[in-house]
Amino acid sequence: MNNQPYLPAKIFNNRSETTPRVMVAPQRYIQGPGVLNQLDRYLSLLNVRRVGILASHRGQAAEGQRISATLNSSDIESVAAVFAGECSLTEIEKHATALADQNIDCLVAVGGGKPVDAGKSIAYRLDVPVVIVPTLASNDAPCSALSVLYTPEGNNDGVEFYPSNPAMVIVDTNIIAAAGERYLVAGMGDALATWYEARVCLNNPDALTPLGARPTLASWAIAEVCARTLFEHGQAASRAVVANVCDDSLERVVEANTLLSGIGFESGGLALAHPLALAFTQIDAVHHKYLHGEMVAMGTVIQLALEQSEEAEDVTRFFARIGLPTHMAQLSLSLDDTTALDTIIESALKNKNAHHMPIPVTANSLRDAILSANELGKKVALEIGDEAYRRLHEHK
Ligand SMILES: [Zn+2]
Repeated sequence: MNNQPYLPAKIFNNRSETTPRVMVAPQRYIQGPGVLNQLDRYLSLLNVRRVGILASHRGQAAEGQRISATLNSSDIESVAAVFAGECSLTEIEKHATALADQNIDCLVAVGGGKPVDAGKSIAYRLDVPVVIVPTLASNDAPCSALSVLYTPEGNNDGVEFYPSNPAMVIVDTNIIAAAGERYLVAGMGDALATWYEARVCLNNPDALTPLGARPTLASWAIAEVCARTLFEHGQAASRAVVANVCDDSLERVVEANTLLSGIGFESGGLALAHPLALAFTQIDAVHHKYLHGEMVAMGTVIQLALEQSEEAEDVTRFFARIGLPTHMAQLSLSLDDTTALDTIIESALKNKNAHHMPIPVTANSLRDAILSANELGKKVALEIGDEAYRRLHEHK
């Protein structure tokens, strides 16, 4: 079996006069408290008889069993595939091979970012539709037609692109409300960056989205609503998760973190915040300790500092209020560690999304932006306190 990342949907590689605008989205997005109990009804739209359920060991015991019971009551058979923890080509091929003999006509991928991304890749290899059931709103992976791959050791190993987005994304907000506050907050970090990155891409005629296309106005508008939703409802949604209740604020923020952010980044484009977030994972002290959205938050503050944007302070304040990192020490990084700083800068500069910025991104300009974002973050933390951050990070 092919063990190279597959890139069929990457049709446009270089910007030209005729590069089209492209927007993609999942075929159906369903969100609400208890929607998982109606999974059999939704799957009947796909006319399935036998489905695979991909979830971690923990996920199989929780949502996996629940899904299988719901499907059984509607005469849909299911077969469990236990995801071992890393979205690597080895793990993907293992499940694709095992499930190839099972005659499934749909794969349901349940969990956080990694089983979701692995599910898309396995379903692509099996040529069956994938249904995503996120159990966290910590990232915007569920709606996109791409997977971030890792080596079996957990290091970044590129991205796979697929010709279609998931057939369905089904988000049960009761499950999200019962998950930890830190996950929802990390998802807000990933989601808020969407607007600032998409804006850069729309304004730069040379910038391409992850689809290799130009952004549409629709994805740009979606990214803007995403940011507005987070500013207006972010803190209330955090409180809802702490109280384990599903209210309107939580519903709005879950949609922002999952649907709006997902469409916004894939069809709107990325700029400097994400290359920095990926660069932070090069440092071991950061990689396994912080969530993707937490690193994206710091990347966003640095991007805005590089742009010398007046919004940098408001964004930093918002992050501090909900408990996202706003300065380097909150990612366990010290500016005195010049080796780590050089590694981060070098890695970010290699990522072409970083060069979508309207001003040249060089080692020097990036270093200055990191220093100035760090100063701003420390100032804001002194001013409004770091209680939220400490609450999310004290129970490690
Ligand atoms: Zn992201």
